[in-house]
Amino acid sequence: MAAPRPGPTSARVDHGVTSGTFTLDRETFDVENNIWVVGDDTECVVIDAPHSVDDILAVVGDRTVKAIVCTHAHDDHVRVAPALREAVNGGAGAPILLHPADRPLWQLTHGDHEAWDQDLADGDVIGVGGTDLQVIRTPGHAPGAVCLYAPELGCVFTGDTLFHGGPGATGRSYSDRDVIERSIRDRLFALPPTTVVHTGHGEDTTIAAEQANLG
Ligand SMILES: [Zn+2]
Repeated sequence: MAAPRPGPTSARVDHGVTSGTFTLDRETFDVENNIWVVGDDTECVVIDAPHSVDDILAVVGDRTVKAIVCTHAHDDHVRVAPALREAVNGGAGAPILLHPADRPLWQLTHGDHEAWDQDLADGDVIGVGGTDLQVIRTPGHAPGAVCLYAPELGCVFTGDTLFHGGPGATGRSYSDRDVIERSIRDRLFALPPTTVVHTGHGEDTTIAAEQANLG
């Protein structure tokens, strides 16, 4: 991919942190999740729906929400997605987007009675605030995990696929260490090295720093 240059976009990244729990394989953990919102002053996309609708709405403000894009369907990322969908845009709602390979994880949290609205696919482009988010399919932490690359903003939102310090966890059901490493090496390390990595939990990093970590 060509090196990104700051374009004539007024889009920006807004950030918050919210706390709750993550449950899988009958174990529950306390976790802090990042809230990431991309857009301009009038419209935005919300990346994941962690823990608290109110905490997410505090980052959104009074902007129109074009979509709620889920990086994967672990419960700490999607539990409040249906409630957030109902709450935004004055009750008019916004579509929830998820890769369909994460259906088993979504159903662990929401069963069959709540569905997401649109399937994500590799190469999809989501326009917001005059800039683009490109969907990169990165299975491994979850079968339907995706990352969202914003070339004009020089950043990528990696959910739980890549953290400051290395790959996301693969010790539980529906995860695969070899698959996540292939996703990171083949897809994320193909991005410009200076790309800032906004993670699902914890601090930012860069593609170059994580290339050095993973070797
Ligand atoms: Zn996860």
